[in-house]
Amino acid sequence: VKNIGILCSGGDSPGMNCAIRAVVRTAISRGIQVTGIKRGYAGLLRGEFMQMNLSSVGNIIQRGGTILQTSRSPEFQKVEFRKKAVDILRAQHIDGLIIIGGDGSFNGAMALWKEHQFPVVGIPGTIDNDISNTEYTIGFNTAVQTAIEAVDRIRDTAHSHARTFLVEVMGRNSSAIALKVGVCTGAENILLPHDKVNHQKLVDDINRGIARGKESSIIIVAEGPVAGRSYDIQHVLKDMYHLDAHVAILGHIQRGGSPVADDRFIASQMGNMAVEALLGGNVPSVTVVQKGKVLMTDLANCTTKADHNYIEYSGLAETLSI
Ligand code: ATP
Repeated sequence: VKNIGILCSGGDSPGMNCAIRAVVRTAISRGIQVTGIKRGYAGLLRGEFMQMNLSSVGNIIQRGGTILQTSRSPEFQKVEFRKKAVDILRAQHIDGLIIIGGDGSFNGAMALWKEHQFPVVGIPGTIDNDISNTEYTIGFNTAVQTAIEAVDRIRDTAHSHARTFLVEVMGRNSSAIALKVGVCTGAENILLPHDKVNHQKLVDDINRGIARGKESSIIIVAEGPVAGRSYDIQHVLKDMYHLDAHVAILGHIQRGGSPVADDRFIASQMGNMAVEALLGGNVPSVTVVQKGKVLMTDLANCTTKADHNYIEYSGLAETLSI
């Protein structure tokens, strides 16, 4: 491998820049060229390349988002466009590709390998922490920290006015953010993405808290399939139980911002390891965290979603907020 291409795909997440920096610096230290591909697979199909050097990744370790930008590309789902992508990569003399993204992006990478034997290495980057066979995806802890800070602020005002708040956090299919934020903010209840809402229980829990002198209740709601479901819950609480609850939807605030230490540290290790994997012919593969250590696994292990066994923590949150 003489020239590594690197792109980000799917949703951005804080720490992607740390991974890009680690890839570029590791490769250049080993005498390998790096070509940045802008805007994910869509940019690849449009030939949006930028040559990376040591200083093109200077001063980005602390920046959220991704300097390469990202996208979702419906075209790339089609076999003929992936053929075109490989032709473009080869014409550019790129002979290995690092993809930072989620399970969808890894499926695209897998197709490049299966259809064209194009060497690919994935780095898991998504705030949802929802990829199979890795305990961690870059961006998760930053998103959780951001949400915790927001909920702490909401708790101040909730307490001052003795109010109930429904705070909606990201997570379409993944419970990870809601559960960790719920435990860390002392939430009175956590509603997971696929939970059928038990309004009666919510009201009973809130009233039990009030009866023992609680001044506020925070209910963490994972957005689920349709963002904004907190409003539906709010209406039912009002109409059927005469209980006023306020809604705060944290939304994209959770995606941006400067990465916390874990995201910088893990992304730096993953970027470094991804280059070594490409150079060592260990493809198709992914950098993962298993038993707390960063290591490589086969790409095929990471092409599905996983809702990690955080479920145990929902009981914890409930016990501690009694
Ligand atoms: P996030 O978790 O942030 O949503 P993701 O990588 O899972 O990240 P997707 O939108 O699922 O996000 O995938 C990103 C892109 O990867 C898609 O727009 C598409 O170009 C490509 N992709 C996804 N699935 C496939 C597939 N099965 N075959 C080929 N390409 C795919």
